[in-house]
Amino acid sequence: MAGKHHPPEVRRATLADAFAPLKLQWAVAEATRCLMCDDAPCQKGCVAGVDIKKFVRALRTRNVRLALSVIREANFLVATCGRICPQAELCEKRCSATGLAKPIAIGELQRFVGETAIRERMRPTFPPPRSEAQVAIVGGGPAGLAAAYYLRGAGIVADLYERRARVGGVPMAGIPRFRLPRDLLGAEIGFVAEGGARVIHEAVTDLGALADRYRALFLACGLGAPREAGVPGERLAGVWIADTLLELVNLGEDTRGGAPPRFSGRTVVCGGGNTAFDAATVALRLGSDEVVVAYRRSEVEMPAWPLHRGFAVEEGVQLRLLLLPREIQGEEGRVVGVGFQRAELGEPDASGRRHPRPVDGAFESIACRQVVLALGNHPSAGWEALSLEAGASGPRVDPETMETSRPGVFAGGDLVNGGATVVQAVADGRRAARAIAQRILDE
Ligand SMILES: Cc1cc2nc3c(=O)[nH]c(=O)nc-3n(C[C@H](O)[C@H](O)[C@H](O)COP(=O)(O)OP(=O)(O)OC[C@H]3O[C@@H](n4cnc5c(N)ncnc54)[C@H](O)[C@@H]3O)c2cc1C
Ligand code: SF4
Repeated sequence: MAGKHHPPEVRRATLADAFAPLKLQWAVAEATRCLMCDDAPCQKGCVAGVDIKKFVRALRTRNVRLALSVIREANFLVATCGRICPQAELCEKRCSATGLAKPIAIGELQRFVGETAIRERMRPTFPPPRSEAQVAIVGGGPAGLAAAYYLRGAGIVADLYERRARVGGVPMAGIPRFRLPRDLLGAEIGFVAEGGARVIHEAVTDLGALADRYRALFLACGLGAPREAGVPGERLAGVWIADTLLELVNLGEDTRGGAPPRFSGRTVVCGGGNTAFDAATVALRLGSDEVVVAYRRSEVEMPAWPLHRGFAVEEGVQLRLLLLPREIQGEEGRVVGVGFQRAELGEPDASGRRHPRPVDGAFESIACRQVVLALGNHPSAGWEALSLEAGASGPRVDPETMETSRPGVFAGGDLVNGGATVVQAVADGRRAARAIAQRILDE
């Protein structure tokens, strides 16, 4: 395998898949490098608890079906997480082979299994339903879908409420399609719908009524609205909120009926998280000649994963650090630049990261034709109506069962952790499903 992505000059010109295809021959050779460690430290690094050693062993003997069932047992989004999990920070970081050469490419092996399964239509099978209409799930992102999938595996058909026209949550609406093609994600999500979860496209406004109507309620609504910069000029033409831009490019035909916008000249993206780098690589593909990501702290404090940053930098995205946006400049109602105040690093703040301190009198402007704001999201709202005890971000939950302080109401995913990963959301959904199924089927 020369590299997991197509070369940057090829991929940056198109919204098409950025990943190079994988072959069985490569997968068998890579699996054969595995040391089959007794203690399998890789598995301890997997948030979903996939039995990595077992699925890798199955691949050594070309048994893709067995590898698939081992992964699905813990994580039904096999191809999706094979692509977008930060494996370098999780399972691969713990891999013993790292000391000898390089870690086993666990993520790529999982991607190979997931993509083979979709191509060859290896659908999961479920037992006959034992219970219906007793469980409601609010939110059709990875957490809600995982709960529906694993409940179905236990014979329970849940009602899944999703406010968007398409289920899939952020992976469908936010993660760019060149990192995660829609047909691939759609196929893995389709396994849930085909399996018998009842999907109801409706924005739930009265959680209390739902909690009263169903025996169990799983809240998986993700994060709230995006933050604004709070600086003059945010309403100028050419200023985009990253979430809106990403959703338009991903789902335009489904949600707004519009084609993606065309960009030109320079685009400035304000932010330093994964969303900022996704917006930056999308801005390149929309026609920007140049894309600059401007972040208010240094690279050390940047929340975006190194691999994600590297993907964007390889494509030519530039980084400017220690810049605080102060105004978005415009002419005749259209953006022409961003005014920044320079910053230096001060003491650590509540997040534990060093705080950016403005430098008196140090200002600079970056001329541009588009600005994208990727400044994070507000915490989710709505769940307070259920009078649940609060945790660090959303409702407080029992980490084993994901049950909140109100019996029968469960919660998971970004709503609870303030924004993490797809695999964490899947793990939460599965944990909640197990606890709910045990309760319903034992009674
Ligand atoms: C741009 C971007 C890139 C990312 N890249 C990665 C990555 O590469 N790898 C990774 O692991 N993670 C990534 N993440 C994080 C990951 O997408 C999230 O952690 C994950 O999607 C959380 O899943 P969830 O189910 O909790 O919430 P979400 O995915 O947000 O899903 C929540 C769902 O609930 C629905 N909903 C909300 N309120 C209601 C209501 N009242 N009624 C009905 N439906 C409702 C929403 O429409 C949505 O579909 C990224 C996030 C962003 C924003
Ligand atoms: S830690 Fe690495 S080498 Fe050891 S079992 Fe896991 S994948 Fe194989």
